[in-house]
Parts: sequence; structure tokens; C-alpha cells
Amino acid sequence: MQLLDGKLVSETIKEKLKTEIESYVSQGKRKPKLVAIIVGDNGASQTYVASKERNSKAVGMDSDIIRLETTITETELLDLIAKLNNDDTVDGMLVQLPLPKHIDANKVTDAILPHKDVDGFHPYNTGQMVKGVDTLLPATPYGILLMLEHYNIPTVGKHCVVIGRSDIVGKPMSILMSRNAYPGNCTVTMCHSKTQDLNSYTLRADILIVASGIPEMVTGDMVKPGAVVIDVGITRMDADNEKGYVIKGDVHFESAKEVASYITPVPGGVGLMTIAGLLMNTLNAYKKHVGIEEAYTV
Ligand code: NDP
Repeated sequence: MQLLDGKLVSETIKEKLKTEIESYVSQGKRKPKLVAIIVGDNGASQTYVASKERNSKAVGMDSDIIRLETTITETELLDLIAKLNNDDTVDGMLVQLPLPKHIDANKVTDAILPHKDVDGFHPYNTGQMVKGVDTLLPATPYGILLMLEHYNIPTVGKHCVVIGRSDIVGKPMSILMSRNAYPGNCTVTMCHSKTQDLNSYTLRADILIVASGIPEMVTGDMVKPGAVVIDVGITRMDADNEKGYVIKGDVHFESAKEVASYITPVPGGVGLMTIAGLLMNTLNAYKKHVGIEEAYTV
């Protein structure tokens, strides 16, 4: 079994991005700029946003976090997005989910200009992705593609089983793994909570991508010998340690690693690749914005 090391791959990508950004700045161009909006004080969201800011600064981008109270209205949030859409110094923006119940998350993500939508959630970008046109991709599936590419994992003609059909992970992942490009060209089966006899699918998966949000639901006996296992899950579970919690994936790592050929750890796997996908999207958005050719590279 070989570990698919998100730390190693994301650091390699970040080094490349840093060098590329330095070269633009040395040519007199401004730095790329990412703005993240966070509403409320959800602990996990605060951690994710802080990490996005830290990583974007580490590669030489400008980065702002706009922190808003949960009392903000939907209209006020949409007005802020409109302002950032019109701000020529902002290349990419994202609104950290989940949002408070009184705000329609779809309305908010749809309000971001598609070419600044570095989370890749806007319907325009979804449409381009479905058509196989280069565009800003949802950051987590994009990060997984970058991971598969880094390890040269063969995908052509393989059976890929994706567990989960959310708009941000399962659905786009299934589309991308079936596209006519590398990584892709798989025969894809998408499973969800109504799938009957889940094991009969997972046991036939050459590549198994799990995004169910159910900690450790996929155990070693559900994995085909030699399969590539990608664990997207991140669940914080109460624990008697300094932090007060541990992070669990959707795969039972200890049993699955005995069967898999490659496997992502949690933490240290897909979570870090999501950040890499976000940074790649931000650089691509910037390159389009300032007129540098060759944006979008998957
Ligand atoms: P959602 O809750 O939106 O979707 C979960 C999906 O899993 C649904 O489609 C659901 O089916 C399906 N599902 C639930 N139970 C089962 C089951 N028993 N058998 C088969 N399918 C099942 O979650 P997300 O896609 O947003 O996230 C999934 C996980 O990934 C979470 O742990 C999340 O925290 C993590 N995540 C990690 C990221 C990272 O950077 N590593 C980024 C984004 C998410 P149905 O549609 O029928 O309800």
C-alpha cells in the first residue's frame, strides 16, 4: 500500500505556484488576490478559512477574510458580493459554507461572478465542466484530480465508484472521472443513501472515492484488493484530548489500507488538496483577469 500524501503533493503544487507568482510580480504585475467571506463563528469554518488565508499568503497572494455576524441579512451579503464583483483588485472570492438558515446558500454562490468563483460552485462553471470546457472547477474534486495526476494513477477504462452525490463533491467528481481526459475516462458508478447493496459496487471499484460524511463507513471488507481509495470525509468527533476532538474520514483507514494499493489518510489527504485546488483556481482566475494566457490547466 502506498499513501497518497496530500501534504507532499500540496506542498509541491504550492512551490510551483509561488515561483509562478514571483515571476509575474517581478515583471511588474500585481499579486493575485483572494477574498473569503465567513458568516458566524462555526469552529470548523473558522479553521478552514484561516488555513485558506495562510496558504494563499504563503504562495505570495494577497488574501483578505471578511468576518460577518450571523445577524447579517441575505440582502446585505448579496450587496457585499456585488461590491467585490466590481472590485478590479479582487481575482477570486468564496463564501464559506454552511451559512445561517435565513440565508439561501445557492442565491449567494450564484451571485459571485463566474470568473471570480474560485470554489467552482457557480452554475456557469458547472455547465462548462459538464461540457468538458476548461473552467474553474469545484476545489475538492479538482484537488483529487491533481492528486491522481501527481501519482500517475492510471484511470483510463477503470471502474470508479463515487459514494455521495452532493453538488460540491460527489456529483462533480463523478462527472470529472468520466470526462474524456486524464485523469478521467473511467466508467463511473455514483452511489448514494438509497443505493441498495452498496458493497456489491464498492467491491468492483478500481478507484473508490468516498464522500458520504459518515465516519469510517467504508471498511476493508468493502474494498477491492488493489483499489485506489480516496477518502474525502472530514468529521470532527468529540475526544478526550487537548483539542477536544479528532478528525475522522469516511473510510476505516486501518482495515482499508490492508487491501488498497493507494489510500489517502485523514487528516493529511484530500483536505490539503482542496486548498491546492482553491489556490490553482485563484491563480487561474487571476491569469484570466490580468490577461495572461494559458489559464486553466487540468
Ligand atoms: P453531503 O452530506 O452533502 O452528501 C453526502 C452524500 O453521501 C449524499 O449524497 C448522501 O446520499 C450520501 N450518503 C449518505 N449516507 C450514505 C450511505 N449510507 N450510503 C451511500 N451514500 C450515502 O456531504 P458532502 O458531499 O458535502 O461532504 C461529504 C464529506 O466530505 C463530509 O465528511 C464533509 O465534511 C467532507 N468534505 C471534505 C472536504 C475536504 O476538503 N476534504 C470538502 C468537502 C466536504 P443522499 O444524496 O441520498 O442523501
